[in-house]
Amino acid sequence: MTPAQRLIAEARAAGVSIARDGDRLILRAPAPPDEDLRRRIREAKAELLPIIPLLVAPDAPEVAWRAAVMREQIPPYPRPAPLLVAREVPYQPGHCLSCGDPIPAIRCVPCREAVALVLAEWRARHGTAAGRQPGSAEGS
Ligand SMILES: [Zn+2]
Repeated sequence: MTPAQRLIAEARAAGVSIARDGDRLILRAPAPPDEDLRRRIREAKAELLPIIPLLVAPDAPEVAWRAAVMREQIPPYPRPAPLLVAREVPYQPGHCLSCGDPIPAIRCVPCREAVALVLAEWRARHGTAAGRQPGSAEGS
């Protein structure tokens, strides 16, 4: 683990997630992060930027191709959705389990956005049907 990866892990352990928008770091936390942690993140910005995934919009191309692949993996309702992945890649620590991009997280941001998008579409499509109990239509 590099010092920058250690800092990301430390921030995550403190409940702080670090994202990137262009060349800005974005910290998210339920409560304001402690000043010492913020200062060290600021000072490590140059090391952090290359390894923090870009914060992406749901319509960004890097999300769109992943979502297109994952949509194909959604089985017919009401079977539960499987683990959605963007590519068939062997899981390696330090790489996204879904696309294989090197990243200090289980899934990279575009893959997380794509999963959220596809599952939201699925829920929207089956919103009414989801309330119906399978088998209750017996005899009709
Ligand atoms: Zn990924």
